[in-house]
Amino acid sequence: MVKNEECEIVRDLFPSYAEKILSKNSEKFIENHINNCYECKEIFKTLQNEREKKENEISLNDQLEAKCLKKINKKLLLLKIIFILIILILVIVLGLFFSKINHINNIIKTSYNKTQELKNLENYTISIQQHDINYIDINESIFYTKYYYINNNYKIENSWDISYEDTENPSSSYYGKINSNQRTEIYDDTKKIINSTSNYNYETKTSFINFTYLDISNYAKSNGFLNIFLISGIKVRNDRFNGKECYVLRFQSDPSEGYKEIWIEKETMLPVRIVEDLFNKLYTEKTMILNIDTVNSIDVEIPDKEGYSIENINTNIDDNTKEIIEQINQ
Ligand SMILES: [Zn+2]
Repeated sequence: MVKNEECEIVRDLFPSYAEKILSKNSEKFIENHINNCYECKEIFKTLQNEREKKENEISLNDQLEAKCLKKINKKLLLLKIIFILIILILVIVLGLFFSKINHINNIIKTSYNKTQELKNLENYTISIQQHDINYIDINESIFYTKYYYINNNYKIENSWDISYEDTENPSSSYYGKINSNQRTEIYDDTKKIINSTSNYNYETKTSFINFTYLDISNYAKSNGFLNIFLISGIKVRNDRFNGKECYVLRFQSDPSEGYKEIWIEKETMLPVRIVEDLFNKLYTEKTMILNIDTVNSIDVEIPDKEGYSIENINTNIDDNTKEIIEQINQ
């Protein structure tokens, strides 16, 4: 082979030689040639240098790229952790919120249902004590009501402990039948009997129970978002009243204005105390005691009164008031 022809072949084979993909014999042939041919040796060296340079550049680029990717991955991981934490906190907060709503809802609905069950009672008394303090007019009153129910007959005893506002409120007892527009009112202080006839029924089976429980029925009957909205404004705590464990539901829309509390005895789930305080305006405290099977027929019988004056009156009221009373009596 002529030297120039051999050089051409060797140079053509350089890339494959560098990649080390030639057969052993071909490799030996090239090595022999390079060792004896200065020009080819120089060309091979140059090619080799260029190759190394390129490889270095590529690996440098790879390193930079890897660094960048690492940084991005780190940021992504951090974002993921933050996202998971936010979701976790949200779940915990929502969980606590809804478990509180559920807890209060259970108290209200159970208590409401227990009160509704009272409507099935055939023999009971409800004693209510109401203490009012009016800070604007500066007067105070304590009013007692005791409701007796047996065999479709009722008696309501009313008395005042102190009454600065209205000293003309003597003690009285009302006697009547359920779903009747007539009742007999006896005033012992003034020795007076009034037979009153009205354009509405004085008492229904449920009127007295509804009267004690108006405060909570709206909450008990609400559903969906309205229910969540209403209940979310209520706080609940445990406390004691008359030595009995109670749930205390606290309603407070504006802490500077006042608050309202409904105390529900845990054992019976019935309301036993309602406190409403409008700061520096009006304080009202109502306590309730229920007794079952303590009434005798004679308790609701109109007693014979000698020397009492008798008066027959009509206590007709306007349609608006009548509607309100009938709503309460439903
Ligand atoms: Zn050569």
